[in-house]
Amino acid sequence: MKLRFWGVRGSYPVPGLTTQRYGGNTSCVEVRCASPNDPTAPRIILDAGTGLRRLGKEMMLGPFCEGKGEAHLLVSHTHWDHIQGLPFFAPIYRPGNKFHVHARQRDDMHLRMVFALQSDNPYFPVPFDAAAASVQFHELTDDAKFEIGPVKVRCTRLNHPWIAIAFRLDYEGTSVAYVTDTAPFRDVLLEHEFIRQPPKPGDPLHPEDAAKLAAMREGVVRLCEGAQLVIYDTQFTPSEYIQRPHWGHSCAEDAIEIAREAGAETLMLYHHSPDRTDAQLDDLLGQHREQLHRDGIPLDLHAAFEGMEVDLSPHGLHVGQASSRSMGQGHKGQPGPSEEISWK
Ligand SMILES: [Zn+2]
Ligand SMILES: [Zn+2]
Repeated sequence: MKLRFWGVRGSYPVPGLTTQRYGGNTSCVEVRCASPNDPTAPRIILDAGTGLRRLGKEMMLGPFCEGKGEAHLLVSHTHWDHIQGLPFFAPIYRPGNKFHVHARQRDDMHLRMVFALQSDNPYFPVPFDAAAASVQFHELTDDAKFEIGPVKVRCTRLNHPWIAIAFRLDYEGTSVAYVTDTAPFRDVLLEHEFIRQPPKPGDPLHPEDAAKLAAMREGVVRLCEGAQLVIYDTQFTPSEYIQRPHWGHSCAEDAIEIAREAGAETLMLYHHSPDRTDAQLDDLLGQHREQLHRDGIPLDLHAAFEGMEVDLSPHGLHVGQASSRSMGQGHKGQPGPSEEISWK
C-alpha cells in the first residue's frame, strides 16, 4: 500500500511563504494498492479537501482522462476542509469515470444533497448534476465495515462537532488508520450542537457523557491497534486546546498517547493548524521526537507535508517524497528526504 499526501492542513487553505514546505492545501490523502498498472487495484482517496484538485489533474494523465477510471472517496465528515476540492476535481466531469463516495449517514439529508449544496447557486457556477461521471453515494454507520476489492475498511466515531468518522484500511499485511477530526475524549462530548462557551478542561463530566467518550476512545484505540501507520488530527498545541476544547481537535500529545496505547508503529501528525508556520511545525516535530527518544518510546514520528509518500509493506514502512514533476507544476521543495519514489 502506498500513500501520497496532497493536502495536510485543517480548517482552510493557507498558501504563502510561511507554509510553502508543509503545504497550504486542506485534507486529502491518496491510497494506492498493488501496481497502478493492475486494472483491479482499487484507488482510494481519504477526504476531498483542496488538495484533491491537484490529485485530479494527476489522475487525468491516466485512464481518468479517457473516462475509464474508478475511485473511492472516503470522507471523514463534510466540513469545508474535507470536501471543498470536489467541485474542482476534473475527473468527475469526464463521462465514463466511476466514483464512490463513502461518508457517514446523516439524519436530516441524503449525502448526495450535502455534496450537491456546496456547488449550488449562488456559491458555484457549475451544479453538481453537471458532473458527467457516475457518482454513487454510500452512507455509513459509525462502526461500518466494508470492502473495496481486496482492501478491508473499518470505521469508528470521533469526537467532533456534528460528528466525524475515522477509517482503517487493511491490505495484504499493511495497515493505516486515518483519524481526523477529533478532540481528545476527556473534556467535552461533541455531538449535534454548537457549543458556544468552552467547557473548562478538567471540569467533571456528566456520567453519561463520560461513558460515551470512554466508548469512543476505546473505539479509536481498537481502530489503531497494531497499525503500521496512524494519521491523526494534531491541529492544536496544548495552550491552543485549552482555549478551544469545543472545536473538536487534538494535540500531538493526545495522538501519541493513543498511538502508544494501540501499539501503532508510526504516527503522522496531520490536519495542521492554518496558523502553524513551516518553522513552527519543524520545531513541534523535533521537540516531540526528542521527548519520545528521552522516554525510550519506540514510536516513529513524522509530520505530513504535501508531496510526502509513504510506502507500506508487511516488513515496514518507508517515508519519502514525490518528485515535483508528479505533483504538478509549481511544486516547490519539501521538508522530507530528497529521494524520489515512483509509483511503479
Ligand atoms: Zn477538518
Ligand atoms: Zn471538521
